[in-house]
Amino acid sequence: MSHTDSLEEVVLGELIGVDTSVPPGRNYLEALKVAGERLEAAGFRVDYPVTPMNVARSRVRENVVLEGERVNMVARILRGESKRRLLLNAHIDVVPPGPNWSHDPFKLSVEGEKLFGRGASDNKGSVAAITTAATRLASSTDFEGELIVAFTCDEEIGGRSGLGYLVENGLKADAAIVGDGSIRTVGIAANGCMRFDVRVRGQAAHSSRNWLGVNAVEKAALVIDALAQLNRRLGERRSSVPADPDSGVDYLRPSLTVAMIRGGVKENVVPPLCEITVDRRLIPEETWEEAKAEVLGVLEALKSKDPKLDYEVDFEPQNHFSYKVSPNEEIVQLYASSWSRVMGREPLIVGGLGCVDACYLAAKGIPVVTGGVSRTGNNVHANDEFVLRSDIKSFSKIVELTALNYLKRA
Ligand SMILES: [Zn+2]
Repeated sequence: MSHTDSLEEVVLGELIGVDTSVPPGRNYLEALKVAGERLEAAGFRVDYPVTPMNVARSRVRENVVLEGERVNMVARILRGESKRRLLLNAHIDVVPPGPNWSHDPFKLSVEGEKLFGRGASDNKGSVAAITTAATRLASSTDFEGELIVAFTCDEEIGGRSGLGYLVENGLKADAAIVGDGSIRTVGIAANGCMRFDVRVRGQAAHSSRNWLGVNAVEKAALVIDALAQLNRRLGERRSSVPADPDSGVDYLRPSLTVAMIRGGVKENVVPPLCEITVDRRLIPEETWEEAKAEVLGVLEALKSKDPKLDYEVDFEPQNHFSYKVSPNEEIVQLYASSWSRVMGREPLIVGGLGCVDACYLAAKGIPVVTGGVSRTGNNVHANDEFVLRSDIKSFSKIVELTALNYLKRA
């Protein structure tokens, strides 16, 4: 292992060393203190607000295991007379490591230009970049107003108990940078997410007399086929927001994926129950209520043709919304010009297909731009996740320049 020299890499190493996998999301405070103690030393006032467990529980499905405090960090530094407030945010939780790592997922490993570890790209690399940018900003005399750094939890299970909770409970800003995105683009929008289960009921019987039963797996196949047809229709729909060219589409598009299926008891039993889990992605022009009504309409049409179809639909609480902000917002323009200065070319201003916590800010009318340290190919949410050393430095510099311009002394 070659040595890590920059402060960004030291901070990243300490963050990766704390397992913040969610579920269950156990060690948030320990990870937050890696950043919080440095920010406090740099002159920030640092708080660790906790989301009550009953609130966190109400925002996820019953089968999601939550352990430990749902804690976040909010650090503030105020200068001069200006009332302008800029918020910098990234999330501290990561998805569980999964199998097949060739490195320890909870220990930073350096190989040439690559830094390996769970969360290196999503999202601890951004936490490290923002922490170091914020400590440099705190020692600068060039800004006026309030700089707020919020590192939040539970993004990977919907974010309503992390940044979503803070925003619902009074966290305010005039503009925000959410560092949960790509180093290659400037993000102004994202798709939202809707998840639901369809529980199809049949009638158990001995398979040698299957005409006496109702086969729930076969009935579920009809549901799956109808949802697959809906997905084909969704494939014709496009947002007005351009997509990252890496995604294979020119503009954001919606989708519907039948992701999981569970059913059957034994080979000689007509299955009495079959459940499917569905993931629907919404473009900024679609609302959750419309998308829900569309799914229910498809299922009702199916039942009108097949009265023996017996089903119920269970929607997950609404978490990440779709959103878009105008590319003309000042924070977007300042981020884009800082990006150009650091990266040496014009940025692509796009929407993301994945869900991000930025939606909770946009929903409150706070202009938000997203960027980050990630690239397609960094094994995000997979084994051997990594980040490029230069990308952490670049993102940190972009954040610093944008903040200095937004909070410029009059
Ligand atoms: Zn993320």
